[in-house]
Amino acid sequence: MSSVQPAETNTMRKYQLFIDGQWVDAESGKTFTTPNPSTGETLAEVAEADKADIDKAVAAARRALEGKWSKISARDRGRMLYKLSQLIEQHATELAQLETQDNGKPIRESLFVDLPQVAENFEYFAGWATKIEGETIPVPGDMFNYTLREPVGVCGQIIPWNFPLLMAAWKLAPALAAGNTIVLKPAEQTPTTAMELGKLIQEAGFPDGVVNILPGYGETAGAALASHPGIDKIAFTGSTEVGKLIARAAADNLTKVSLELGGKAPNIVFADADIEQAVNGAMMGIFFNQGQVCCAGSRLFVEERVKDQFLSSLKEKAEKIKVGDPLDKATLMGPQVSCEQLDRIKSYVGYARDEGATVLSGGGSPQLDEGFKNGYFFQPTIFSDVSNSMRVAQEEIFGPVVSVITFKDEDDLLKQANDTIYGLSAGIWTRDIVRAHRFAKEIHAGVVWINTYNMFNAASPFGGYKQSGYGREMGKHALEMYTQVKSVWVDLSGKPIGWFGK
Ligand code: NAP
Ligand code: MG
Repeated sequence: MSSVQPAETNTMRKYQLFIDGQWVDAESGKTFTTPNPSTGETLAEVAEADKADIDKAVAAARRALEGKWSKISARDRGRMLYKLSQLIEQHATELAQLETQDNGKPIRESLFVDLPQVAENFEYFAGWATKIEGETIPVPGDMFNYTLREPVGVCGQIIPWNFPLLMAAWKLAPALAAGNTIVLKPAEQTPTTAMELGKLIQEAGFPDGVVNILPGYGETAGAALASHPGIDKIAFTGSTEVGKLIARAAADNLTKVSLELGGKAPNIVFADADIEQAVNGAMMGIFFNQGQVCCAGSRLFVEERVKDQFLSSLKEKAEKIKVGDPLDKATLMGPQVSCEQLDRIKSYVGYARDEGATVLSGGGSPQLDEGFKNGYFFQPTIFSDVSNSMRVAQEEIFGPVVSVITFKDEDDLLKQANDTIYGLSAGIWTRDIVRAHRFAKEIHAGVVWINTYNMFNAASPFGGYKQSGYGREMGKHALEMYTQVKSVWVDLSGKPIGWFGK
């Protein structure tokens, strides 16, 4: 298959902050650069927001909330969201290329998975704008009681680098449908596509200040947003460690919080499964997006009886994965997002060996074409002989690294599968329908996939149990995070009030 040519090869891209409908430099004048992880070369120079810029953006979002945005009808909010989804579809190719250049994900993922889902999320929530309704409550007496479902207000949204545009869409779309205003901070590793999205948001007709996008560092811009008294709700996706910092920072102002954090998902293969399908599902679970997925099936539980058959097929297929130029449409795995992530993954190969696991496949740098030798690539890697208590089975590695654990029976399996601080997702491969649904009920996870993996839809809720966070993104559940309920009482009797009125 042919290679997709980057849109701009010789000119360095430059991005300013997007505040109150204007493109502006940071107050400090500071900038930072974002590399292309497949080459290590600088891709773009980006304005670096910190507290002063966050203050400006929060003030703009408040003005927009109380001003023009509050006068716009639900129908028009929906139309703007729909227009945005169409603009994204029109610009999908260049957005996908830029996503691939900034993040390193293969173009076949950014073009055929990420971008369609980004557009789908805006389209789906466009439909919700006119369907956010209150209720009438059957209270006793001559009283009328109804509820209003109102926006929460100014929302701070902090997103990670693994699905830069898609995470922006998951956060922005429901918040806008419900009538909130937003200050969004993309990850420092991947700020560029969020800034391009800002241009499309303007083109779609959203009033100034409704969406503000401020790239910058987590410790400065992110922390300023999380602790800001002018923020009504903070939504975060990223590591469990930073999620705890966000929750603590928000506690001082009792800012509402939703968190979508890490995972160490069990992906479980019973002997009665279609083994080839399960092998493909295991690969999809761990090698998609270079394993940089919060719901990655990183603990692969295999029933002992089929271990040899399963692992020989998995190893053979993993070793055939084409790793390299992410703009090549035939590439299945690109580089990790950053040098730090690559180093982190490498350190886990050491931990695995130290604790007695076997490196069945991979474990190092792949063979690369000229031009990609400075990229942050890592081989698809399989650890076998892992026990669930090892670091590689308990800690989120966030790379193309799977830990294979064998089990004897269902009881043995369930205890181990639930023995983790996380509870984001789980997968099961079996032909036994009763076992599959029993497992879905007993596993402590927010999402369960049966004979499939990594399925998502804008209409279906996603979020974690335990330390994988709280709140649900997508589907109607996302609207609960971005609305608050007001209960209104009306006296219909017209009589004097009893009690003190007598
Ligand atoms: P991270 O630090 O949690 O980053 C996520 C977002 O939070 C980024 O926008 C980041 O800004 C921001 N941030 C960082 N520190 C902050 C603070 N003190 N206050 C407010 N915001 C803050 O994740 P990472 O360091 O990039 O990756 C480390 C590990 O996190 C990975 O190895 C993986 O295990 C996990 N992770 C999970 C997810 C997920 O989807 N659940 C996504 C990414 C990473 P910067 O861009 O400046 O860092
Ligand atoms: Mg980058």
